[in-house]
Amino acid sequence: RVISAAPASPQEEAIERALRPKLLQEYVGQAKAREQLEIFIGAAKKRGEALDHVLLFGPPGLGKTTLSHIIAAELGVNLRQTSGPVLEKPKDLAALLTNLERNDVLFIDEIHRLSPVVEEILYPALEDYQIDIMIGEGPAARSIKLDLQPFTLVGATTRAGMLTNPLRDRFGIVARLEFYTPEELARIVRRSAGLLGTPMDDAGGFELARRSRGTPRIANRLLRRVRDYAEVKGEGHITQDIANRALAMLDVDPQGFDVMDRKLLEALIHRFDGGPVGLDNIAASIGEEAGTIEDVIEPYLIQQGYLQRTTRGRVATLAAYRHLGVTPPQAAGG
Ligand code: ADP
Repeated sequence: RVISAAPASPQEEAIERALRPKLLQEYVGQAKAREQLEIFIGAAKKRGEALDHVLLFGPPGLGKTTLSHIIAAELGVNLRQTSGPVLEKPKDLAALLTNLERNDVLFIDEIHRLSPVVEEILYPALEDYQIDIMIGEGPAARSIKLDLQPFTLVGATTRAGMLTNPLRDRFGIVARLEFYTPEELARIVRRSAGLLGTPMDDAGGFELARRSRGTPRIANRLLRRVRDYAEVKGEGHITQDIANRALAMLDVDPQGFDVMDRKLLEALIHRFDGGPVGLDNIAASIGEEAGTIEDVIEPYLIQQGYLQRTTRGRVATLAAYRHLGVTPPQAAGG
């Protein structure tokens, strides 16, 4: 996959950091989440208390990490960042928790991947700002309680449904991030082009925005590739024509679907007669992990009305047939 919303190389991450908005005011879109946070952050600051724990969920690249940094910046506190799979042992999490200062933010990405033993020590930390840790080994081992500073956990996950109930219940603020509109993405790429010092006209920016799968991370990545194209094949200026040619080269189709999107729709229509077909069958057929299909590929296709998730499996809609130029059978869904 040339352009994906999945985590990136260290260089890509450095650029992403540079393009990240720092304050709520610069954070484009997500009006609902932003409004909630503005109020709750304002109230917590006024009282001098830690903000309630926040759960952010939604597909990769929609701005969960960015938002967690913004929350800490708006609160005027430190941010400590880790992720579910990195925290292998309870003591890994204990070390982080005991080092937090008053009202700090702890960001745990991929929080649905915490191991059960680590999750276990998180509960009292979230509820009472306390942890139980084991001291010593064997028969001499004993558990002691440690008090923590009040803090805010910001958890991010691609799917809220993958969290255990007791964990989910401990978040006072739950925000679902949505795909961005082309207009919102156009604002984001315009800002990014400004930061990168790349001249771009509105039509060029909009073309990019429209074909970024509703995802800021993809918009910013496409912008950088299209900038390269403009520098080599053009005068360095991103116009609509340059954007169209560069996106064609990158295999991003007029709808903004990439190779994997098309592969999925093609398999569904050509190999499974449009479905319904189970996720695992589709995954095996296109050689992609079921989890990636569910987290990264499918959500946008569903949101755009090309795919339906039914109790009997995935089904291609009429729009999917039309997109691939295939005559739909009489009974096709959508
Ligand atoms: P996630 O954590 O959900 O995978 P990130 O927070 O890492 O996504 O966002 C990916 C990139 O997209 C960031 O580098 C940032 O530049 C950009 N971005 C995300 N959301 C916004 C937004 N609301 N406004 C502007 N840029 C954004």
